[in-house]
Amino acid sequence: MTQLFTKITELREFLTDRKQIGLIPTMGALHQGHLSLIERSRQQDQVVVVSIFVNKLQFAPTEDFQQYPRQLNQDLYLCEEAGVDIVFAPDDQEIWQDRQPKTLIQPPSFLSEGLCGRSRPGHFIGVATVVVKLLNIVQPDRAYFGQKDAQQLAIIQQMVKDLNLPVEIIPCAIARDIEGMALSSRNQYLNAAEKLIAPQIYASLEVAQTAFFNGEQNSDRLLDLVQSYLANTPQLKLDYLQIVDPHSLQPLKSISENALLAIAVYLGKTRLIDNILLTHNFRVSQ
Ligand code: AMP
Repeated sequence: MTQLFTKITELREFLTDRKQIGLIPTMGALHQGHLSLIERSRQQDQVVVVSIFVNKLQFAPTEDFQQYPRQLNQDLYLCEEAGVDIVFAPDDQEIWQDRQPKTLIQPPSFLSEGLCGRSRPGHFIGVATVVVKLLNIVQPDRAYFGQKDAQQLAIIQQMVKDLNLPVEIIPCAIARDIEGMALSSRNQYLNAAEKLIAPQIYASLEVAQTAFFNGEQNSDRLLDLVQSYLANTPQLKLDYLQIVDPHSLQPLKSISENALLAIAVYLGKTRLIDNILLTHNFRVSQ
């Protein structure tokens, strides 16, 4: 039976003295991607906590905070089905007391200013600040994050290390639909025509992956292949396309071991991100 908490003190009271807590932080509108993180937690934690909070601190005023899908009843149903013990769904007042927080977590610029950080300045301050709050509120042993948001994952791993946060971060593979498209709550924004186009994003990354498996290590040549493929789909407007080190997020000229090929595109008004790990060592992709 999933229990819903909306108040920090009540949640804390319930969790005191519990052991082996797993936390899956989410913004709700749950899909199979979130459920795959929940499943990982269920396999190793005694208490599975899913937080659902649309964090306005990580949205710029021009972004989709108001429009972001909110469907708590359906999320609760999915959590119940998935064997989640606790859903923590606070409102804005509970988390921010209706004011801008005075203490913010500033991730290092080398991690936060490239990739998504370029078109979303301040986004990762909002992410890091709310994640620290959620970690302090829930005090989990493990917290689960999707590789889908690879930059977020790298920033959180760095933060946990730098601040000695007593939690193990578990990276989880990207869940995709049958066409290869990375699942995302924002996929709900796409109309029928856009849904037909969207799988081309992953298909473009696969072109580079195939070339990489066939021995191509030069980043510029791999990126050119992706660009040429995307030229067939002008509806996809590139925000960025880069090959970076998966941990330092610094651009790589050539790939010796592992690299992250990351993309962000606009499809109509919707901004979509995806990535693929270019590696010959499959253990790192999990
Ligand atoms: P969100 O609700 O979009 O903030 O995502 C909550 C968590 O789920 C984050 O750690 C995401 O990286 C992860 N996530 C979202 N979509 C996917 C996906 N398709 N596969 C794996 N993890 C995902």
